[in-house]
Amino acid sequence: MTIPPDAEARRAVKPVICYPNETLPVPDLALYAAALEGAKVTGTVIAPPREAGVFEVPAGHFFRIRSIEGPQVGDLNLWNAQDISERFYSGKTRALHGTHVTTGERLWSSFPNLRPMATIVEDSLGWYGIDQYGGSVHDVIGTRCDPYTGNLLAGSQYHHCCHSNLTRALAQHLGISAEAAEPHVHDVLNVFMCTGFTRDTGQYFMKASPVRPGDHLTFFAEIDLLGALSACPGGDCSSEHSSDEAACYPMEIETLAPEPGALDGWQSPQRSGYDRSHGL
Ligand SMILES: [Zn+2]
Repeated sequence: MTIPPDAEARRAVKPVICYPNETLPVPDLALYAAALEGAKVTGTVIAPPREAGVFEVPAGHFFRIRSIEGPQVGDLNLWNAQDISERFYSGKTRALHGTHVTTGERLWSSFPNLRPMATIVEDSLGWYGIDQYGGSVHDVIGTRCDPYTGNLLAGSQYHHCCHSNLTRALAQHLGISAEAAEPHVHDVLNVFMCTGFTRDTGQYFMKASPVRPGDHLTFFAEIDLLGALSACPGGDCSSEHSSDEAACYPMEIETLAPEPGALDGWQSPQRSGYDRSHGL
């Protein structure tokens, strides 16, 4: 390998943001906050340790994921409740908002829809910021722990990775086989997980989540949502996942309805305006 004489000059080129997001539609956070203030709890679902819980949230309602009993990370999937081919698009959410999400940022849906599915309205871990290792919470960089990678790296047959938990929960909810449900499981929002990339090798890392019982992340549902949350077998993800080794706790998902009229002026977002002709 030959290092070019202008190597340092090339490295010194300043980066530009791939997707400047100043032109994104801005959510009315004050309206959402006022609606949340008067909202009433309509249901509670528990994701048991190493299992997933399924919930439905109508457009214009809220859902809140809460840590209970002990520090625990959750893997979240979201679908359009009427058409599960529209689902959370973690890669595009990352491209638009960065590696980790917090209050005011949104979870975007897959092509050809590309619209906000949910907006984060409360994040009790918002104080964490970015730590000395480059770690932060609620990432859209991990995929979800899964039995295929476990088998690839360790030859294991483990059935309670988040991928399998989400597959089982969706299959049971829809009354379909695991084989039919599995293709609908997708890359997640890692709720409460503390992750980053190492500076020296660029590897994906995790560390003990700062989450404590009572911490929560609250979303406004922009469209009718079907959701599933897996209580990751990694527990707080301080050491390992894809096994039964870690201490693992349940998580709670609460759904909330605002008072009638609390969202006057709000409209559920339309699908992407791209005409889909692709130049043909
Ligand atoms: Zn997991």
